Amino acid sequence: MLRFLGKSHPIAAMVWNFSNGTLSANGSAMRRAIYPGSFDPVTNGHIDVIERARKLFDEVIVAVAVNDQKQPLFALDDRLAMLRQAITIDGVRVAPMTGLLVEFAAAENAHAVIRGLRAISDFEFEFQMALMNRKLDEEIETIFLMPKEEYTYLSSRIVKEIAQLGGNVSAFVPRPVAEALAKKMKR
Ligand code: ADP
Repeated sequence: MLRFLGKSHPIAAMVWNFSNGTLSANGSAMRRAIYPGSFDPVTNGHIDVIERARKLFDEVIVAVAVNDQKQPLFALDDRLAMLRQAITIDGVRVAPMTGLLVEFAAAENAHAVIRGLRAISDFEFEFQMALMNRKLDEEIETIFLMPKEEYTYLSSRIVKEIAQLGGNVSAFVPRPVAEALAKKMKR
């Protein structure tokens, strides 16, 4: 049909938009956000942010940094697998991300970037990143979401430290993550 009508015809445009995922189920434009991070490993704080973001957007893409300068404990595939196991709601996709965030967002037709804000200490770095990303692409807005209070002190780093010292992290991370951490620390 597309071939005959051309993309500018209203019906063809709708089909074209659907096939490109730019329309949501009710026919309005799909609101899609990227939630980027290292997720080394995913914690309950990340999950809380993902659930909040999903309430605001039709689709949330959790973008896992491939070229992480932080030298992650878990390999990319493990971080992706743990996220996929931990996320139980529809409309959330987990994907690896190489290169610039703004380019990834544009390629996914997303106009929003989600970041979690826990404390003032997060602010300076996040502020700088948000403004730099805006400089790189004005179309993309960064949105900060605050997790439940009980997750505001939680970070992947602190969870790894507790696990390294033999502590129990099951209250802070999804079960597959607690198991993976225990396995890693035994080695
Ligand atoms: P990055 O290395 O990009 O900071 P992280 O995986 O550490 O990647 O974090 C990804 C995002 O999730 C960041 O915006 C971070 O502030 C946020 N975040 C991390 N832990 C929590 C938490 N406990 N509650 C809310 N947001 C969080």
